[in-house]
Amino acid sequence: MSATDEEGIIIEAMDEISAETCLTFRAAEVGDNDYLSFQQLQSGCFAELGYGSGGARVVNVNSLDGCLDDTTTPIHEIMHALGFEHEQSRYDRDLYVEVQWENIDAAYKSNFNKLPRTYAFPQYSFDFNSVMMYTLDAFGRGGRPSMVLTPKKANVTDEYAVGRATNMSTSDIDRIFSAYGCYDDYEEPYVGRMNGRTHRLTIF
Ligand SMILES: [Zn+2]
Repeated sequence: MSATDEEGIIIEAMDEISAETCLTFRAAEVGDNDYLSFQQLQSGCFAELGYGSGGARVVNVNSLDGCLDDTTTPIHEIMHALGFEHEQSRYDRDLYVEVQWENIDAAYKSNFNKLPRTYAFPQYSFDFNSVMMYTLDAFGRGGRPSMVLTPKKANVTDEYAVGRATNMSTSDIDRIFSAYGCYDDYEEPYVGRMNGRTHRLTIF
């Protein structure tokens, strides 16, 4: 895959987000306070969390690790940079999935930490179809499940599809609308609309 093709995938991902929301993207210019910095300097696919607190937000999408095979991963990473967390980290996730701690190596257990309610959008319920949701075997040792559905949620029609969304779900789109004021008569640039958070998150 050429560099141009790789850039094209990233642009396509941004176009998909723009098509569904009020967010627009343009090339960064000197003097911009906040911007996304796409790079392949490190291995893996990850993004710094949050946007709007000043400076570059690194979005590392290494094509050697499959991060640019299609738009799915760039959309996921851009959503991190926009301030969105993994769905299974929600404060109320235990109502939906039971984490199988015994199947997860110690080094990876922190990927399943729960976040405070303030990090979620409590007006939207847990969304198995979110592009921010892990697969049920993510970080599971030897392919074992790292999460199983709670009995209450065992009627999810296709467990294999959980964590394999290729596009933003309705709820993902609604959350961007909510966070970035897309419901308003929206004309202002979105920079600074959301409080940036600066901790680094290594992602799946
Ligand atoms: Zn992630």
